[in-house]
Amino acid sequence: NRKQQPSSTELIGGILHGNRTALSRAITLVESTNPEHTAKANEVINGCLPHANKSIRIGITGVPGVGKSTFIEAFGSFLTRLGKKVAVLAVDPSSSLSHGSILGDKTRMEELVKDENAFIRPSASGDTLGGVARKTRESIILCEAAGFDTIIIETVGVGQSETAVHSMVDFFLLLKISGAGDELQGIKRGIMEMADAIVINKADGDNIKKANQAKLEFNRALHLFPPKKSNWQPKVTTCSAITGEGILEIWTTILSYFEQTNESGFFPEKRKEQNQFWMMETINEQLKLNFYNQPEIISQLEQNKKAVQNDEISPFAAAQRLLKLYFNKGTEVQSH
Ligand code: GDP
Repeated sequence: NRKQQPSSTELIGGILHGNRTALSRAITLVESTNPEHTAKANEVINGCLPHANKSIRIGITGVPGVGKSTFIEAFGSFLTRLGKKVAVLAVDPSSSLSHGSILGDKTRMEELVKDENAFIRPSASGDTLGGVARKTRESIILCEAAGFDTIIIETVGVGQSETAVHSMVDFFLLLKISGAGDELQGIKRGIMEMADAIVINKADGDNIKKANQAKLEFNRALHLFPPKKSNWQPKVTTCSAITGEGILEIWTTILSYFEQTNESGFFPEKRKEQNQFWMMETINEQLKLNFYNQPEIISQLEQNKKAVQNDEISPFAAAQRLLKLYFNKGTEVQSH
């Protein structure tokens, strides 16, 4: 006696009316690995696509403890007070392993959780970063169609997830805290290069002086990087997610980025590039998924692995054998 599931047309209608239940349900379909759900999710995404794209997408990264959840609570609430509709999504491929996402921590987003102009969704679980990232990327489209004009994508500052998030947002914000004068230590060059803004958080109380020093240091370091393709000079600011000091300046920075890159044409160009990138990513991912889901492959993979291990067959010959099996038998596409 399960309740009848809404059709894709009903879901699309609900989303376009800003119905949060419809939005949540559609995201659940996107996150599902069931091929039937995937097919339905694709119908919903296609229906939403013409109404998406009208938003600012902001990526936020930083190591655990830097204050991401607290910052998103403060920043998100600031934005809804301005009349914005804010969706918070997360990319955390480790969530399936740790059985619980460390991102989208709702206990630190008490105000935002209750805010009817905000929508918070923790990271999808998944085995691969590619899978998790694709689901988030599709969820962005659904959120935009539901009328959310500011999309915040949170990710944790470890591993490859920053690159994935960078490729789905317009503006990338790196959250830092001031340390013992060795601010640049342990920070990956690639992440610095991706950042459109570096925000030194926890600039309150006794920390203010150190935060200002860190700001100088980051500013100096950033000027050593070659100019960005966007021609945007990344900004370094300080803020306190607890007192709210510096939040306005961050928003002003994002708005001037938006203005400058729209004027230069970089903004729409980057989105087009990102769309192409995601098309290719989706193909790669689905091909792989489809391959490994073929019954013939499932039944043959292990024994071929063993044969390779025992030097009975070369790795290339074994791969060829499996690929041949796939292309000869498994040509019909299982899921989209
Ligand atoms: P996350 O792991 O990056 O999401 O970090 P959290 O938002 O959970 O914050 C980690 C800790 O830092 C918590 O105890 C917060 O209360 C604290 N915190 C976050 N932002 C600030 C801030 O601006 N100032 C101060 N003093 N503490 C902060």
